[in-house]
Amino acid sequence: MKKNDVLYVVVPCYNEEEVLEETNKRLVEKLKDLINKSSISKNSRIMYVNDGSKDKTWELIEKLHKSNELVCGLKLSRNRGHQNALFAGLMTAKDKADMIISMDADLQDDINAVDEMIEKYYNGCEVVYGVRSSRKKDTFFKKFTAEGFYKIMKFMGVDIVFNHADYRLTSKRVLSELSNYKEVNLFLRGLFPVIGFKSDVVYYERAERFAGESKYPLKKMVSFAWEGITSFTVKPLKMIMNLGLIIALFSFIFLIYVIIGYFTGNSVSGWTTIIVLLCLFSGIQIFCIGIIGEYLGKVYIETKERPRYIIAQALIHEGKE
Ligand code: UDP
Ligand code: MG
Repeated sequence: MKKNDVLYVVVPCYNEEEVLEETNKRLVEKLKDLINKSSISKNSRIMYVNDGSKDKTWELIEKLHKSNELVCGLKLSRNRGHQNALFAGLMTAKDKADMIISMDADLQDDINAVDEMIEKYYNGCEVVYGVRSSRKKDTFFKKFTAEGFYKIMKFMGVDIVFNHADYRLTSKRVLSELSNYKEVNLFLRGLFPVIGFKSDVVYYERAERFAGESKYPLKKMVSFAWEGITSFTVKPLKMIMNLGLIIALFSFIFLIYVIIGYFTGNSVSGWTTIIVLLCLFSGIQIFCIGIIGEYLGKVYIETKERPRYIIAQALIHEGKE
């Protein structure tokens, strides 16, 4: 692989007016440094994807684009969520770049890990995962829920890189393979291990947000985790079957007990037992039907094959070679 490849840094932004200017300053500095070291081509770019922000994020991106050759912008037609915004950026960048790095707008992920990612790319890696070496700066709650999430995913049989979010380098080739995955329910960090190719990890310390607040409240986090599980594994369906088997076994034992009771004349008017069992089993049944319904719902959504994003406007400085 030749050195001096084109790098695109894709940054999804939702209501990030508080961080964008500082983020851009740091990223431009980083890119200039890499260009000066001839580690990347001078046609490399930073691409901000505005995910239907309600604040001045897009105006800021336009301003940054005008004043700096390294800055590009994509504007989605409305808010589509982090994964779709990132996907829109990746799909646009793959036609212009050789390697693409995705990161969040708040730069919680240490941008100095970029050098090591690029080095690994030049050594033949097609995917380089950024992995948090510790979560010292996270609150106890965030650490507990986030790490619990990765453990549940592993338990459910999803091949996922522990403590890796969406900070990663991918080659153009991997992204063109990704474009063949047509699913609408996107869970990108689970897809890259499925795609394969030579990969490696780079460790970094995760910092706090330097301004603004998290765009991932607990509700979004939980639905994202559920998305991950249901998009990648049918293990919950198997668990239902096992649960059904165990319940059937217990019911059978209970049945024998009741019949013996009947013949030995110990049968009491078992109103309580009936009510308790009725409630318990209806509860379990409804729960199980609910899980099946979740999968059915996903099939319904997938069959529509709706576009995952719509680009309203693109601001791109084309590279001159
Ligand atoms: N984001 C987005 N669309 C959304 C929500 C978030 O593009 O609907 C972006 C956000 O601007 C940021 C990234 O996703 O660049 C991660 O969000 P955040 O830093 O708030 O999440 P946290 O680090 O708290 O998990
Ligand atoms: Mg963040």
